[in-house]
Amino acid sequence: MLNLLDLTTEDMQQYVTGLGYPKYRAAQVRKWLYEGVPFEEMSDLPSEMRAKLASECEQPSLEIKAKLESKLDETKKYLFAVGGGNIIESVLMRYKYGWSACISSQIGCRMGCRFCASSGIGFVGDLTAGQMLGQIISMNRDNGIRIGHVVIMGIGEPMDNYDNVVSFLKKATSEDGLGISARHISLSTCGVVPGIEKLANEGLPVTLSVSLHAPSDDIRSSMMPINNKYSIDKLLNACNSYVGVTGRRITFEYSLISGVNDSKEHALMLARKLKGMLCHVNLIPVNKIENGVYTRPDRKTIDAFAEVLNGAGISATVRRELGRDIDAACGQLRRTLIEQAANNNEGSGK
Ligand code: SAH
Repeated sequence: MLNLLDLTTEDMQQYVTGLGYPKYRAAQVRKWLYEGVPFEEMSDLPSEMRAKLASECEQPSLEIKAKLESKLDETKKYLFAVGGGNIIESVLMRYKYGWSACISSQIGCRMGCRFCASSGIGFVGDLTAGQMLGQIISMNRDNGIRIGHVVIMGIGEPMDNYDNVVSFLKKATSEDGLGISARHISLSTCGVVPGIEKLANEGLPVTLSVSLHAPSDDIRSSMMPINNKYSIDKLLNACNSYVGVTGRRITFEYSLISGVNDSKEHALMLARKLKGMLCHVNLIPVNKIENGVYTRPDRKTIDAFAEVLNGAGISATVRRELGRDIDAACGQLRRTLIEQAANNNEGSGK
């Protein structure tokens, strides 16, 4: 089915005039679409036009299959149907500065990082720009809010779905779209170098996050297959050029894993690698996943790691964790099938 959120403004006009309606109807439809209003309720459109759109097009809001609410904080995890019996996950988080959404970019992931649940159950395909917008639009509408911050840190590798992600970014930041400031959007990559190089030249002032997780190639390769293709030095070169071209600070994500990458020596090696780069390091104690082999270090080790980095002039903080009790934390999101979701989430209210 056609998803109108995937169309450009011009293509939308063409579609609407093709149906025999005047051009100004396209602007009316677009306004409703970004509010997530179902076609049947687009009250300033003629009723036969609403019926036509409802029969030909996907509804702008994604269908909510389940919603899990954290008892520890105000985090909510959404399971959305995206066709073909597949479900993806998104997370809504409340911060002092407002609402933030963590959205998925693919149905599954093919990067194979050993510590991440998104890799576990295989890859089905890409999400379209409209389906990425749909996650935000659905959560806005379900809660009567306007999400002002977005992180593309859910299921999938955004650089493996580059064109759709860039199209999403343009629509999410456009005044005709969601009107979210590009500075409030972070895109996270496991280190796909050509994607970083391309993004630098898009003129989109989003924040680039890079999942580094290790200070040496042998440790990184043991955790992340992508490192066999793009070594740490190649990755950091691309990051340096990104900073040079955009003038924007990069965030490095570093998952602390007990006995693997969490010693003071590892921290010193990391500091040496990052010296002189405009960057910030986000330390994330590794989260548990099903059949996972990695465990997190104790608090003392985590603080000591942060101290070494800060002492060496690399700004580093430990990421605050939200939604752990509903498997909504970093690396815990995964693709499911509709039947599985029904079993796993029994009792959670829709
Ligand atoms: N594919 C992109 C987007 C996913 S973002 C990327 O790799 O960056 C999700 C972030 O959570 C990444 O930094 C990822 O490395 C991290 N992550 C994955 N599994 C994790 C786990 N079990 N504990 C903590 N962080 C994890």
